[in-house]
Amino acid sequence: MEHLFAPWRMRYLRGESRTASNGGCLLCEIPEKGVSRDRLVLHRGSLCYVVMNAFPYTSGHLMVVPIAHGASLSDYPTDTLCEMTKLLKECEGIIQKVYQPGGFNMGINVGHAAGAGIAGHLHSHILPRWEGDTNFLTTVHETRVVPEDLRESYDRLLPFFQHL
Ligand SMILES: [Zn+2]
Repeated sequence: MEHLFAPWRMRYLRGESRTASNGGCLLCEIPEKGVSRDRLVLHRGSLCYVVMNAFPYTSGHLMVVPIAHGASLSDYPTDTLCEMTKLLKECEGIIQKVYQPGGFNMGINVGHAAGAGIAGHLHSHILPRWEGDTNFLTTVHETRVVPEDLRESYDRLLPFFQHL
């Protein structure tokens, strides 16, 4: 297994920005304002929303998140999980158009032991991958580029989500 080196994620790993302003659940708070450049929300469906990962492994790292609070698949009705999958499909198509990656990682970590950053609220990751994107040059490039480019990436992706 290859590992992406993403040092800007240290802020995330140290626990910054992982709790909501009121001390509650961050993933419950994020969609309250609907589509929002501030909060990096690209789409709000009836049961799930799409948000950019603020501490991305690669440019175009998105998350599909149920609006209701729940920790695992078992906590949600099938309708919610269907919308989650439908939105993952839309994300795949949009990321393909915008970033032309060679592949994708998609997945869900359930629970702290499995590596979930926000273990209390289910969320699914989708991120584009390129051949050789774990190499040193790319990671150095990304450390410089990703933090500044988060809002720029948002502006590139948003028009596609507005057509959903
Ligand atoms: Zn929540």
